[in-house]
Amino acid sequence: MERILPLVVGNWKMNGHFADECRIRALLCSLEPLSLRADVIICPPATLIRSFSSLVKESGVAIGAQDCHTALSGPYTGDISSSMLVDAGAKAVILGHSERRIAHGETSHIVRKKAKIAHQAGLTAIICIGESEAERVRGEGARFVVDQLRASLPDMPDCCWSRLVIAYEPVWAIGTGDVPAPAELEEVHSMIREELQSLSLEYGRKTRILYGGSVRSSNVSALLSMKNVDGALVGGASLQVNELLGILSFYAS
Ligand code: PEP
Repeated sequence: MERILPLVVGNWKMNGHFADECRIRALLCSLEPLSLRADVIICPPATLIRSFSSLVKESGVAIGAQDCHTALSGPYTGDISSSMLVDAGAKAVILGHSERRIAHGETSHIVRKKAKIAHQAGLTAIICIGESEAERVRGEGARFVVDQLRASLPDMPDCCWSRLVIAYEPVWAIGTGDVPAPAELEEVHSMIREELQSLSLEYGRKTRILYGGSVRSSNVSALLSMKNVDGALVGGASLQVNELLGILSFYAS
């Protein structure tokens, strides 16, 4: 069977200024000799997409965004559309991150609409799903995640599958230092895989399913060695070049 090329996404969240170009330059320099067997996408704040995109040209690293609106244009003060992100140089967009679901009331219905418009603009949609601590404690985590996945996925023509990425990010693991046990992680990822394959056997088995939540260079090999874990969505650690390199080294040949 065709092997999935892993993907590591760095989510800078609301951190970074123009002067942080130096972090991207340092990352590119250090990656050059590594011959990575993985794709890399860095998602800075929207203000930095254009300048970072010109820095990474022809480097193998791509720049992504952290959100987009459900419409392509219109009277939505403060919002950014998927076509504007493409115009600025973004290749991907993170959608439905738990920080947006919780702090901005984003429902899976909204995430689904955003994914559809992201695909229309030509972006890769990185759809985040994950259970809260309360759902986990009730033993309902896996079921919750599959239901959230179903509700967040847009209807997809065949051509869009290669631009779909799922990121499993348990809310209780984000920024806490806690991570699922590898076997627990594999169980959820294989349920996500089954669900994707029930929609398309051909494309579901090739879709990248990332893990996100307190990924560090110290825990990366336990987490990313799992069969259905095709890479990572990295928050805090992606801001430190050395830490991110430590994570990426897992895929260096
Ligand atoms: C995230 O917010 O997407 C994330 C994975 O954060 P962290 O790595 O800091 O837990």
